[in-house]
Amino acid sequence: MSTDLLPAVHGEGIDTLIREVLAPQAQAIDEGRYPGDFMRALGRLGGFGAALPAGSGGLGLDLAAQIEIIARVGRVCGSTAFLTWCQAACAWYLRQTDNAAARARYLAPIARGEILAGTGMSNAVKHLAGIERINLRARRDGEGYRVNGALPWVSNLGPGHLLIAAAALEEGGYVMFVVPPGSEALTLRPCPAFAGMEGTGTYGVHLKNAWIPAEDVLAEPAAFEDYIRRIKPGFLLLQIGMGVGLVQASLETIHATNQRLSHVNTYLDDQEADLERDFQALRAETLRLAGLDLDALPLDILRARARASELGLRATQSAALHAGAAGYLMSSPAQRRLREALFVAIVTPALKHLRKEIHALEQQAA
Ligand SMILES: Cc1cc2nc3c(=O)[nH]c(=O)nc-3n(C[C@H](O)[C@H](O)[C@H](O)COP(=O)(O)OP(=O)(O)OC[C@H]3O[C@@H](n4cnc5c(N)ncnc54)[C@H](O)[C@@H]3O)c2cc1C
Repeated sequence: MSTDLLPAVHGEGIDTLIREVLAPQAQAIDEGRYPGDFMRALGRLGGFGAALPAGSGGLGLDLAAQIEIIARVGRVCGSTAFLTWCQAACAWYLRQTDNAAARARYLAPIARGEILAGTGMSNAVKHLAGIERINLRARRDGEGYRVNGALPWVSNLGPGHLLIAAAALEEGGYVMFVVPPGSEALTLRPCPAFAGMEGTGTYGVHLKNAWIPAEDVLAEPAAFEDYIRRIKPGFLLLQIGMGVGLVQASLETIHATNQRLSHVNTYLDDQEADLERDFQALRAETLRLAGLDLDALPLDILRARARASELGLRATQSAALHAGAAGYLMSSPAQRRLREALFVAIVTPALKHLRKEIHALEQQAA
């Protein structure tokens, strides 16, 4: 979003990595290459732990700096911005857990990118919003739990990766937990081909009688509701980074094509100045929210996340229209970004889900 959010001492290394390692493979990632090399290198530079203390493998900065890193990645590759979000979100969950054993075991390796991690939380988040049934079931077994069930698509997975998910208990309540790398109870199944985001390491996840010891529980049932309330604002605000990166890249495309074609591009909706104004407003609101007590304003955070989806859709469509046939080439980032923006608007919380939650909170307030 801006250079002042990420000090040059960290930003320059991350920018060089994005330019030299990520940019050349953005199209290949869209078509199916998982950027494990980039993810591990970004982790070594602290790219998933901007909001974590240095002692936990982080950069000792704040949430705004982490959003900025996701945006810089997203300017070049939306799929990898999503992977960066997955990894940063898992670090965020571990930072917020009351379970010191899980924090000690997983937080630093995830923040440094030594363990790559998927967050299979869409189903639980949608379930808690009254949208769908929960897929994973847990039952108590001694000091831990046994978990069974399947999630249709979870990203940033592969051999040796870790999974975080949540399950419903037979007797009521929910538990959120880590499935460590190498768990034999976890099977990954290939997904049908997607319209984009093919390199995101997205699999169908099956858990068969998975043993979750107490050390791997992030939130016990009694603490679950409070834990979700703590992690959700960061979950949503970090996702805004994906939208911000797409809007910035689209503004650059619009600006570049207008050097030659402004005489005709001027008849399009969503001109550069309009999008720039809305982008600056979203950016300012995101920074304001990231700097607040995150418990305070769930409605404003939901609205900002929805605006990131809406503006991403408008900006990428406008950029593609400004670019014309050149933007319709398979090699053009303009057409790739249209599909990436659609993903930002359908990944949980999807735009329709956000509007449902916003509506419910507005009704409550009235
Ligand atoms: C590329 C990609 C990556 C994703 N990565 C993650 C991730 O990392 N973590 C995560 O938790 N979720 C992930 N998701 C899921 C995503 O966040 C949404 O939950 C999902 O797109 C469904 O949302 P929806 O609004 O379409 O659901 P709705 O419109 O409410 O659809 C209802 C339900 O039907 C299911 N459904 C529809 N079609 C199919 C199908 N063909 N096969 C199986 N189920 C189906 C959907 O999962 C959904 O739960 C990913 C989805 C995609 C496309």
